[in-house]
Amino acid sequence: MKDSTKRVAIVGSGPAAFYSAMELLRHDDPMVFVDMLERLPTPYGLVRGGVAPDHEKIKSVIKIFERAAGHPRFRFFGNVEFGKDINRLELLQRYHAVIYAFGSRLDRHLNIIGETLQGIHSATEFVGWYNGHPDYRHYQFDLTSKRVAIIGMGNVAIDCARILCQDPQNLAKTDIAEHALEALQQSNIEEVFLIGRRGPVQAAFTPAEVRELLHLPKVDVVMRGSDLELDDHSKEELSKASRNIQLNLQILRKIHDQGDRGNPRKLHLCFLISPTKIEGSDRVESIELVHNEIVKEGGILKAKATDEVMHLNVDMVFRSIGYIGEAILGLPFDDRKGTIPNDHGQLLDGVDGKLLKQEYTAGWIKRGPSGVIGSNKQDAMETINRLKQNWETSNIQEPKLTQEKLIDFLKQKKIQFVSFEDWKKLDKFEIEQGQRNGKSRQKICEVQEMLDLIQSA
Ligand code: NAP
Repeated sequence: MKDSTKRVAIVGSGPAAFYSAMELLRHDDPMVFVDMLERLPTPYGLVRGGVAPDHEKIKSVIKIFERAAGHPRFRFFGNVEFGKDINRLELLQRYHAVIYAFGSRLDRHLNIIGETLQGIHSATEFVGWYNGHPDYRHYQFDLTSKRVAIIGMGNVAIDCARILCQDPQNLAKTDIAEHALEALQQSNIEEVFLIGRRGPVQAAFTPAEVRELLHLPKVDVVMRGSDLELDDHSKEELSKASRNIQLNLQILRKIHDQGDRGNPRKLHLCFLISPTKIEGSDRVESIELVHNEIVKEGGILKAKATDEVMHLNVDMVFRSIGYIGEAILGLPFDDRKGTIPNDHGQLLDGVDGKLLKQEYTAGWIKRGPSGVIGSNKQDAMETINRLKQNWETSNIQEPKLTQEKLIDFLKQKKIQFVSFEDWKKLDKFEIEQGQRNGKSRQKICEVQEMLDLIQSA
């Protein structure tokens, strides 16, 4: 290697972005300088905007990221939108490498009749709303509704169900957005139906998350005993399944045994059911559902519709069937997977295309929306290993605009970027406001308000 100094830009500031930065900053040879660019004035991606407010322990990973942000070779540039404020070429001209780690911000659709009726929302919107994400601040959820269906059996569906069902008093001390707490305090919700297309053995949730449902005060979690009578394929799958799946089944049996205890709110876990149509004149009134059976196709257990149709009256529906990445102008994109095509984190110029020298990716936009926060550590390491291997084995060209500072560029474009120090001012303000109101944090949910507060601090 000729020059042991390298500059890397990371687009995004969630776990994959921070783990990538930490891996780059771990050693002094090469001496890597990291600039992290984030669309919002606030860092941490889904740790701030996705993790449920009653899961504060999960958010403690922020302490590790904060330490990384204090590294002398690290800079944070919040309120800088990739693709709008700065484009791909402008980054490639300034850095030896660019890492795209901006996650998957869109949600998948059911593609069934009635999906555009009023009262149908994505879990992404609801999660963003209760977490005070500026993009979702002004969404309206009619919590005067009594019966709500959530389509999907993953951890996001469980998060949404827990937030909807539990006593808002339990959330009052958390960092839940104030507007969401107020709305939940007025909520009339009596019944929530979690609807999974396959059986309990195939559920996407994890034991820690489903176990919490057993302990929700004033909520009965109920399920049909017949859903626990497994078909032969599922029995076989369970016999070889991971410990997590075995635990899921044990917890579901406990849930079933606990049953209806006469509590005011009911959370129904419904397996082997798919929505086929959403009905209503302008608002959702009911869902047409079909009962499924499990079939084995190409070694995979799939849901196959039977001719048993049923209707469920509901006032609101959330689809929680997974996130999907967003194509950003100028970047290669795999439409089918919703990811950036890559080989071990190094970008390809298209699906099955050629390797690109300077560009890398990490996190959900690299591998798809799966895994917990910690999964991004391994994922980021794979990307950084590939990047370092390339630096060691090939001739890396010096960026054309070595002298041109990113700060000058952003100032010229009149972009009010937010440094990590600026963010810490906002962080302090939010924590202090929270303490005054008996909460762990009172989030600011509007970008302009954040910027004004930073300026006046
Ligand atoms: P997910 O885990 O992929 O679950 C998606 C669910 O939607 C699955 O039950 C899936 O069923 C179902 N689904 C997909 N397409 C469907 C369709 N057309 N009709 C009906 N159902 C459909 O996604 P997620 O819940 O959004 O979570 C994303 C990732 O974040 C996961 O890795 C999750 O563990 C993680 N996360 C973790 C936590 C935590 O650790 N506390 C919290 C939230 C999220 P099939 O299995 O049949 O496809």
